[in-house]
Amino acid sequence: MRAIVVRGSQALKEKFDLIVIGGGSGGIAHARRAAEYGARVAVIEYGPLGGTCVNVGCVPKKIMWYTTSHKYQLDHAADYGFEVTVNGHDWAGLKSRRDAYVRRLNGIYEINLDRSGVTYLAGVGRFIDAHTIGVGDNQYHADRIVIATGGRPIVPDIPGAEHGVTSDDFFALDERPERVLVVGSGYVAVELAGVFNALGSQTRVVVRKDSVIRSFDDMLGQELMQAMVRDGIELETQVIPALVEKTDQGFVLQAEDGRSFGPVDCILWAIGRAPNVEGLEFDRAGVLSNERGFIPTDMLQQTNIEHIFALGDVTGREALTPVAIAAGRRLADRLYGGMEGRHLDYDLIPTVIFSHPPIGTVGATEDAARAEHGDAIKVYTSTFTPMYYALGAKKSRSVMKLITAGSEEKIIGCHVIGDGADEMLQGFAVAIRMGATKADFDDTVAIHPTNAEELVTMR
Ligand SMILES: Cc1cc2nc3c(=O)[nH]c(=O)nc-3n(C[C@H](O)[C@H](O)[C@H](O)COP(=O)(O)OP(=O)(O)OC[C@H]3O[C@@H](n4cnc5c(N)ncnc54)[C@H](O)[C@@H]3O)c2cc1C
Repeated sequence: MRAIVVRGSQALKEKFDLIVIGGGSGGIAHARRAAEYGARVAVIEYGPLGGTCVNVGCVPKKIMWYTTSHKYQLDHAADYGFEVTVNGHDWAGLKSRRDAYVRRLNGIYEINLDRSGVTYLAGVGRFIDAHTIGVGDNQYHADRIVIATGGRPIVPDIPGAEHGVTSDDFFALDERPERVLVVGSGYVAVELAGVFNALGSQTRVVVRKDSVIRSFDDMLGQELMQAMVRDGIELETQVIPALVEKTDQGFVLQAEDGRSFGPVDCILWAIGRAPNVEGLEFDRAGVLSNERGFIPTDMLQQTNIEHIFALGDVTGREALTPVAIAAGRRLADRLYGGMEGRHLDYDLIPTVIFSHPPIGTVGATEDAARAEHGDAIKVYTSTFTPMYYALGAKKSRSVMKLITAGSEEKIIGCHVIGDGADEMLQGFAVAIRMGATKADFDDTVAIHPTNAEELVTMR
C-alpha cells in the first residue's frame, strides 16, 4: 500500500484499525510496527516528520555537540604537536549543512512510512469523538487511537518573556549571538549553554535553585558546575526571573530579588517542557489529563479509555526518544503482534547529557538509594584526570560513582561524568539490567588504557 499524503480539504471519511496522532519518535515507531503486523494505520502530523528529536532535539543538538567537541580537540592539538591556527567558526555554514541533514531525515521518515504501508495525513489531528479524528474538513474512524503528540518548550509567564527564545528557536538562529543568558538548569539548558560558550559567546546561566541537572545524582551536578565555570560560563544560583526589558544595549533579565542580568543579545528559556495537547480536544473522547496537562497511562500505555493509548513525552514519563520508541514498538507488539503483556519497563533507563565533559547515568541516585535501602547501600567513587590530558596544562576531570545495595552488592546506580561517558554507559546499562553485582564488575578484565576501565577497578 502506498502512503497517502492528504493536504487541503477533501471530504473523506476513511476507516483505519489505528490512528496515531503525532509523527515523532514514538508515533512513527508505533505506527510502522503495527502496520508491519498487518494493521491498517494512519499517522497524523502537522509539522515535519520525525518530531522533536529529528527537527529540534537530539539530532541537531548532537551535531552542535560534535561541533563543540571539535573545538575542545583543537584546544589540545598543540599538546600533540600540531600547529593549528583557528580562524573562527562558520555558524551559518554549519547550520545550513545541519538543516540539509535534518531535511534528508524528514524525507527518509516519509519513505519509511510508505514502505511500511502507513497512511500519512498531513495536518492537525483533533478528536471528534472517541473513535473519530478530524484533520481539516476530513474525518477518520479508528478502532484504536494513540496519542503521541510530544511536548513543547515552556516560556515563563512574566512580562517581556517574548523577548527570549526557546530551544526550538535555538536551532533557527542564523548567527551566533555574542552575549547569551540561559535560564534553566536542566539538561537542555546546560547542553545549549555549552554550545554557545565553546563557540565563543559570552555565556551566563541562571538557575532557580543551587545546582544544575538536579534530578540526577548530586555528584554529577556539582562536578558539571565546576566544569562549566572552568570553561568560562558564569553561573548564578537562586535566580527567579521577574521580567525582561528590551534596552538599547540588549535584553536585561530582572530577578525577583532585584538582581539584573544583561544586557545580552539572546535570552534562552530552558525551563522545562509542557505536553503538546492544545487543540487536540481529547476531552471529547473522555480522555483525562493530570494537573500538569500530561496524559497519564497505565504500564500498558492505556489511558482511562480502553481503546485510546498515549506514549512518549505527552505522558510525562521519561522524556527521551528511545523511551518513546520502545513504548511505541512494545505497544504494537502487544496489540497487533500477539505478544500478550508486552510493555516497557521504565526502570533503569540509561541516559546521557551532552555536556563537556559528557554525563552518562543509569539507576538510582545516591539520595534515592539511601532513602530506599538505608545503610544497606555502598558507594564507590573514582576521580581522575584522563591520560588524554597528560601532555598539556588544560585538563578535564572524570568522576564515576557506583552504588550497590544489599550484601550481594547488586549495582543499582552508575553515574559517570567525563570523556567517553556518553558511549560508555550503554553496555554497563545492559549489565546492570541483568542484575550485575560489584563482584561481576571486579571479575571483568579491564580494557587498558581507557577511561571506562575505572568502572571495573573501583575499590
Ligand atoms: C533540545 C532537546 C534535545 C533533546 N535531546 C535528546 C537526546 O539527546 N536524547 C534523547 O533521547 N532525547 C532527547 N530529547 C527528547 C526527545 O526529543 C523526546 O523525548 C522525543 O522526541 C519524544 O518523542 P514523542 O514521539 O513523544 O514526541 P515528539 O517527537 O515531540 O513528536 C510529537 C509530534 O506530534 C506532533 N503533533 C502534536 N500535536 C499534534 C496534533 N494535534 N496533530 C498532529 N500532529 C501533532 C508534533 O508536531 C510532533 O512532531 C531532546 C529534546 C529537546 C527539546
